[in-house]
Amino acid sequence: MKSVTEPVSPNAEPMSNGQGGLQQTGRVVLPNPARNATEKGARTVAPVVSNFIRQIIEADNASGKHGGKVVTRFPPEPNGFLHIGHAKSICVNFGIAKDYGGVCHLRFDDTNPVKEDVIYENSIKEMVEWLGFTYQPNLFHASDYFDTLYAFAEHFIERGLAYVDSQNAEEMRAHRGSFEKPGVNSPFRDRSVDENLTLFREMRDGKHADGAHVLRLKIDMASPNMNLRDPAIYRIRHVEHQRTGNKWCVYPLYDYTHCISDAIERITHSICTLEFEAHRPLYDWVLARLVESGKLPSPSPQQIEFARLNINYTVMSKRKLLELVETGAVNGWDDPRFWTLAGLRRRGYTPGSIRLFAERTGASKAHQWVDMADLEGALREDLDPVAARAMVVLDPIRVVIENWPEGKTEECSAPVHPKDETRGRRTFQFAREVFIEREDFMETPAKGFFRLTPGAEVRLRYGYIIKCERLEKDASGKVTTIYASYDPATKSGTPGGRNVKGAIHWVSKSDGLQAEVRLYDRLFTVENPDDQPGDYKDYLNPNSLVKVNAWCEPSLRNAEPGQSFQFERNGYFTPDRVESKRGVLVFNRAVTLKDGWKP
Ligand code: ATP
Ligand code: MG
Repeated sequence: MKSVTEPVSPNAEPMSNGQGGLQQTGRVVLPNPARNATEKGARTVAPVVSNFIRQIIEADNASGKHGGKVVTRFPPEPNGFLHIGHAKSICVNFGIAKDYGGVCHLRFDDTNPVKEDVIYENSIKEMVEWLGFTYQPNLFHASDYFDTLYAFAEHFIERGLAYVDSQNAEEMRAHRGSFEKPGVNSPFRDRSVDENLTLFREMRDGKHADGAHVLRLKIDMASPNMNLRDPAIYRIRHVEHQRTGNKWCVYPLYDYTHCISDAIERITHSICTLEFEAHRPLYDWVLARLVESGKLPSPSPQQIEFARLNINYTVMSKRKLLELVETGAVNGWDDPRFWTLAGLRRRGYTPGSIRLFAERTGASKAHQWVDMADLEGALREDLDPVAARAMVVLDPIRVVIENWPEGKTEECSAPVHPKDETRGRRTFQFAREVFIEREDFMETPAKGFFRLTPGAEVRLRYGYIIKCERLEKDASGKVTTIYASYDPATKSGTPGGRNVKGAIHWVSKSDGLQAEVRLYDRLFTVENPDDQPGDYKDYLNPNSLVKVNAWCEPSLRNAEPGQSFQFERNGYFTPDRVESKRGVLVFNRAVTLKDGWKP
């Protein structure tokens, strides 16, 4: 097996075997793994998609490198809400730890005091738990290590491996060089240890303004790897920090902080996305120096990179997500059209469906574009075996059954779940006035249309066969009422009863409930909004939200957010967690029953 310490180009062959169907570039073809069913509603996914990260861990376990331990971490910056890409990282990190009997730490990378907010932190914790993972008692903050990080920085100075640079940002940039051109040493690079220590302590003590100096590692200004050209590891920021208050006015930078935090927490495998590949030599350099002086234990954690998840019809950048919220393109961070985890949850996505999707998309070095339809498919697959069924008419047209006596009702019933009789039956009334779906009626039927048409019969599911006798229309010619008759000998379930070709869902006015139902479409009209001429916001789908007034069967009276239903023939729905209050029913369509989406 290839060792990950060898440089691997982002386009290298995926190390996964063919099981995941991973292609070298382009779209990923998802496998169809077998699944485990455990307790209701909380099914877990069998780790059938072998990937190169698992191979590394198994090799380490075999060689006893970390004593058989697996400790991973998910390190979000608390500066935004999590999206489906983060969910992928959460599932990889927590999932792998779980599969190997290890633990995964949740560590907030709170090194940047101006940008971070406790609202984000709380939301991130909530979403990790919602996805079904436990981070307690392993909740950490990079700021927990500010004292140690500072002490290590002095240690680097003492060893002649770090110096205070007093060039301004522009000079530093100019001296950094480029891919073709080596960098130029700073005129401050050869300051004495004493001078560096004095200056660094003055920086810490607030004696210098923001930007006046930075602390840099002394590595190699001519390195072909730009990350090794004397990277800055501390900068001055006279800003209060949400956790350490005004204790510090120098803050450590990410690359320096991250590897040391990993090592302090005895992380074994530090899994991150491919953009950090070129940072790995720096990660290893810092840790090797601290291990050799006995400041940190050995072996050091190993950084392993995999490709980011990208899904078509979305944008993933935090800046763009914020812009979509701020410009009102979506209604807040939890808009059900959004692929933030808060949005997906509100829409009706289940944790199981997201874990299944993450598992199927595997982890590889190959750039990954996944079809939105695969996320939708994972949801259908997760919900089909568990979602209670219900009849709901989304675009109602009134039907009056003239040979059914006024005021009479008769109970009909249907299974809560067609494949699980133990879940019992739901009941609803057959009555003189019912609603059917407008699209289940055609005045002039197209060929092969077996639903309701003038003079023809159709079965009202779980009820009787009715026949369309005549129509009532408004001034514009739109059908407002269908007058029908029913055949009393055809009640559903009658032994030896006759049948007709079409069967449609319906709701009776006598016990039906009115609800607002929100039907969603993709937020963008193009597969890759980031790659279009002009602004990505020019490609917003104006029809991404349609609200309809629906009629629902009475079993939905006490439906609650977090529950999922299959509305027969119409898709999977969940009560909206924001708008649904007692007595008002608002449902979101999470996904249609079939992948019928056409651009
Ligand atoms: P930023 O540009 O602000 O760093 P970010 O999306 O990387 O944005 P982080 O809070 O740093 O946000 O992300 C936390 C973790 O989630 C990181 O380890 C990051 O690699 C991972 N992550 C983010 N986006 C994706 C994605 N699309 N696919 C897989 N992992 C992701
Ligand atoms: Mg990041």
